[in-house]
Order: sequence, then C-alpha cells, then structure tokens
Amino acid sequence: MSNDTFICDNIGVNDQGHLTFAGRDTSELAAEFKTPVYLMDEGRIRHNCRVYTQAFKEHFGGESRPLYASKANSFKYIYKIMKEEGMGIDVVSSGEILCAYKAGYDLSKAYFHSNNKTDEDISFAMELGIGYFVVDGFEELYAIEKEAARREIKQNILLRITPGIDPHTYAQVNTGTVDSKFGTAIETGQADEIIQEALAQPHINLIGYHCHVGSQVFAEDVFERAAVVMIKYTAHIYRDYDYMAQQLNMGGGFGVRYVDTDPYLDVSKKIADLAEAINATCEREKIPVPTIIMEPGRSIVADAGMTLYTVGSVKRIPYYKNYVSVDGGMTDNPRYALYGSKYTCYTANKMNEERGMNCNVVGRCCESGDIIQRDVLLPKETERGDIIAVCTTGAYNYSMASHYNKIPNPPIVMITADGSAKEVVRRQTYEDLIALDVD
Ligand SMILES: *Cc1c(COP(=O)(O)O)cnc(C)c1O
Repeated sequence: MSNDTFICDNIGVNDQGHLTFAGRDTSELAAEFKTPVYLMDEGRIRHNCRVYTQAFKEHFGGESRPLYASKANSFKYIYKIMKEEGMGIDVVSSGEILCAYKAGYDLSKAYFHSNNKTDEDISFAMELGIGYFVVDGFEELYAIEKEAARREIKQNILLRITPGIDPHTYAQVNTGTVDSKFGTAIETGQADEIIQEALAQPHINLIGYHCHVGSQVFAEDVFERAAVVMIKYTAHIYRDYDYMAQQLNMGGGFGVRYVDTDPYLDVSKKIADLAEAINATCEREKIPVPTIIMEPGRSIVADAGMTLYTVGSVKRIPYYKNYVSVDGGMTDNPRYALYGSKYTCYTANKMNEERGMNCNVVGRCCESGDIIQRDVLLPKETERGDIIAVCTTGAYNYSMASHYNKIPNPPIVMITADGSAKEVVRRQTYEDLIALDVD
C-alpha cells in the first residue's frame, strides 16, 4: 500500500507493516499510552494554521486574520499553539473562555459566539476582557448593554446576520438560512432593526457583522455568494443609516477529507477567490474593503487527529454481518451516531494484509447506534488485541465526547515537532467520573 493512497500525507506504513501517524508507529504509541487514545500531530496543526495566516496576509492584509474555532477541539495546549501561530480564537461558552484564559491566551483577540449566552456568561466574558461578542439577537444585545453599563465600559460587538444562503451540506450543520436558530435575518428586515438598536446603545460599539453558512462545505461558491450578500448589505446599511462596518467575519466551514471520495479543498485558493469576490463587490458598491475575519475549526485540526482503539471481539454472523468491537465508541466519537459521518479505518498493526472482511466497527456502549463506521473493509485476520485506527478525528471528537455508560474519555497525545509524544490531556479515570457525586 503506497502512501499516496492515504487520506492525509501524515499517514503511512512502516517496514513492520504498521500504520504510522506523524512519523510515529501507531502500534508503539498504543502500547505506550494504552487505548483508546486520541493522537494529534502538532506539525500538521501548525501547518494548517499557516495556510490560513499566509493566505490572509497575501489576499486581505491589514488587520484581517483567521480565528481558530475552539469548539472543534478545546484544550489548553491548543490555545498555546494558536497564540504562537498568531491565530485569533472564537469561543462559544464560559468553559472555552476559561480554558483559553488559563492557557495564557490573550482574550482581547477572542470572539464570543453562541445563540444563548446567559447573564453569567456575559459577565464572566467581560470580567476576563473578551475582545468581541458576536451578538445573536435582541435580548442578548440588551443584556450586554446592561452589563457593559454596570461596568462602565464600551463593549465591542459584531452582529450575527443570516444571509439566506444554503450551503447544501447536512441539515444539522446548516446555519445560514433565514429560518436558522442562529442570527438575525436580512430577508425579514430584522437585521436592519437590530443594527439600529445596536447603534443606539451607549455602551456598545458595533464593529461589524458576522455570518456563518455551515460546516464541511465543499460547494464551489458558497463563501463568495455569502460575501456578496454581506457586502451589498454593508453598503445598504451605509446608504440608509450612515453606518459603515469595519469588520466582516465570514465564519468557518471549509470541508476536509474523511474518505477517498471526498474532494481536496485548496484553502489558499478558496481564500484568494473569496478575496477577489469581496474586492470586486466592494468596488461595485463603492465602499472600502472591511477587515475580513474567518473562523476555521475543522480544517485546522481534523486531519491532525487520529484515534486508536484495541479490538475486543470480532463477531461474524454468516450471510449477515461482521462486527469489530473496539474499546471506545460513541463516547469518544459520536459523529456517526449524530450525522452518519464517514471515516477511514484501518487495522493498524496489519497494514500488509489484504483487506477482505466487510464489517461494522462498533463501540462498547449499550446502544445499537454506537457505531464508528459501517461497511469498513479490514483484513480477515483482524482479531482481539489488534489496533484499529480511525483517521481524521482531530475535530469534533474530543470536544463532543460524553461519559455515557460511565466510560472515561481518552487522553490526547500530542506528537510534537521533534517526534516525541506526550499527553497534553490526561486519560480520565474512574475516580474522575465519580468525583462530583455527593456521598
Ligand atoms: C462551528 C463554527 C465554526 C467552525 O466551523 P468549521 O466547520 O469547524 O470550520 C466557525 N464559526 C461558527 C460561528 C461556528 O458555529
């Protein structure tokens, strides 16, 4: 099996026929750190950041910058990487804010999302000096005004606007349509209203607009179409209300490859195309080009992750189905259960065997829906004790993990630039799981 058949070029096979990740033998890592374990490739995370930061410098310049969308994978070490790479961050809860803060991340570069920030969240974020609130609706606007007044500060905000764009991905990750849970729609006239309200608040400084159309987006021109809508809208607000937005945040959503049939997406080129559409539209509308922000999550961390499991049983039901059960499952990766997401799986210690067994790779939870992936081809020789590798698990796995069935969460093992591997999040223990129970 040659390296170019792998889903990402940080994956390979060594002389022992073992799968490698970031240059390391996965069987050795499994033996050293035990399973299940999330592996992360620091070099790849940094590379992915630089694709964005360089493209931004080249095509947007000025204050324009990419933010890392924390919700894809939030733990202290990643904020240190983001700080070093000059990435802004977005956060969606007080928990993510605290994590970034404790990691020493400068929160003045942070954007606070969420469609329902509680009064406690608002106060906590201001206390720690959050840079920007991305305001979802009217009640929140007034709640922020009230808290900013109490603190005698002027709070920077962006308004989340729904541009009415359908990116044609899964319904669960569509966010830019008029009827979305998120933001305030242009089409209904409510966006005009909330902008006027924001401008009228004495303790609020309206910096600009945010939109986010969806996730795992591959479609040709989704971002360009959204940008054109937003720039025209910016011009309309300028003409009608004499307010010129300084910032336009285009959200996240670039797709990544989970399986061979997924296309490659050239992020540099996408950003170049987006810049062209933005510049041309600004010129047509005769407005200055705003500072452009984007918020990639998945495309920063997904292919920098891999999960390793140990096989517990191989159940063969003749003429029906084969099941390979692993020592993790929906508790560490709920994405198949949630979205039917695709993943590429291997028997990591038997890479030279022919892959002749069709099976479902399933977890250990008491739930038939606890499936990592259906219809996977693995070697017939796959047996108890073998290592199963699931690729591209760096985004929305650890951050979506649960403790269902009182199953502890795996550690995150970072493979650093010099090839050494260390736990950056330790394995949850059974004691951790019951630590909150009152005796
Ligand atoms: C989820 C989300 C992102 C990140 O999306 P990816 O698909 O991971 O790039 C960015 N911005 C907002 C507002 C989001 O909700």
